[in-house]
Amino acid sequence: MTASAPITQDLVTIPRKDEGGTGKVNLVGLTRDGLRDALIDAGTPEKQAKMRTGQLWQWIYQKGVREFSEMTNLAKDYRAMLDEAFEIRIPELVSKQVSEDGTRKYLVRIAGGHEVEVVYIPEEDRGTLCVSSQVGCTLTCSFCHTGTQKLVRNLTAGEIVGQIMMARDDLEEWVPAGKGMGESPRLVSNIVLMGMGEPLYNFDAVRDAMKIAMDGEGISLSRRRITLSTSGVVPEIARAGEEIGCMLAISFHATIDETRDKLVPINKKWNIETLLDALREYPKLSNSERITFEYVMLDGVNDSDEDARRLIKLIEGIPAKINLIPFNEWPGAPYKRSSNNRIRRFADIIYKAGYASPIRTPRGEDIMAACGQLKSETERARKSRAEIAKEAGL
Ligand code: SAH
Ligand code: SF4
Repeated sequence: MTASAPITQDLVTIPRKDEGGTGKVNLVGLTRDGLRDALIDAGTPEKQAKMRTGQLWQWIYQKGVREFSEMTNLAKDYRAMLDEAFEIRIPELVSKQVSEDGTRKYLVRIAGGHEVEVVYIPEEDRGTLCVSSQVGCTLTCSFCHTGTQKLVRNLTAGEIVGQIMMARDDLEEWVPAGKGMGESPRLVSNIVLMGMGEPLYNFDAVRDAMKIAMDGEGISLSRRRITLSTSGVVPEIARAGEEIGCMLAISFHATIDETRDKLVPINKKWNIETLLDALREYPKLSNSERITFEYVMLDGVNDSDEDARRLIKLIEGIPAKINLIPFNEWPGAPYKRSSNNRIRRFADIIYKAGYASPIRTPRGEDIMAACGQLKSETERARKSRAEIAKEAGL
């Protein structure tokens, strides 16, 4: 087992064990193979390990059980053995805010005392959970609040899938004993990796967590209901198609490199053309229907008719939908939201060219839960305004 070994990330070395933790191996977030190996290591006969893995997954991810003693289809001494070696632990809920529009923002604490935000957005016929993949972000998009917070660390797979479990706890969405997964309504019907962090810079943990989310014995969500949003980490895009296969959203935000360099500085590494080349391959690799282009509407920066027309030209040949995001302001933000008329006009040009161009309604603004507003205030490592402006070349 490697679970107790420290994982080294860009900036810090993190002990896997919580301070004051139990020292037991946490089963949440282990891949099927990882769980199988762990069970064998703990004394499960090899022949049984596959079946036990499936049984445990159903208890953990479908019924929300946290105590081995409640796993009634396992023998009593086997349950005791599991309890000796393992635990089922998810991030701790620190606080919950509920917006006037029903959006819920959760602050959760992970090992090491770090905090990340998770947002649940209920809609009429579905509910979307916006999940974080990192504490902070290494990237410095100049319009994003999270980008003003330095990367503290990557989340583990358990902490990512644990956010979904935490939300299901809060929404009381677990499948009652004796019932199947399809028999209860899905409150968390969609997952978007659009919280804090750049998911493709935490590839393995995001993949392992999403595999559990998509597995029929795991959270059981179709891969079409999971969307990974990236700022454009080009070398990982093909891998995401092959190894995860979920829907893809791209934080596009500009139609000329000069502007995109400032808004999404990773563009200096992989520019618009390189990014679009990678995107042309993605649907073939993942069977996904369309790529979502996210486009934040910034007054006077990227919102002209010309921009709209250039955008259409650029994405020619890519099955796409364009999601227009009215800029969500945050204290000290160097931009303003485009006017409603401007956004509508922009949307219209794109729509007339044959692309869906929905305007994202900001949700949970009153509790700072809207896109790009997330940032754990408790984190001390912050960039100054001057640093942000400098990095963005403003
Ligand atoms: N790091 C990933 C995912 C998180 S951001 C990415 O960049 O894609 C989720 C979406 O919200 C991205 O499209 C991001 O560009 C957008 N966003 C960030 N700050 C915003 C803000 N202040 N207003 C509106 N959208 C914002
Ligand atoms: Fe990071 Fe995404 Fe924010 Fe850019 S928009 S700083 S990649 S979280």
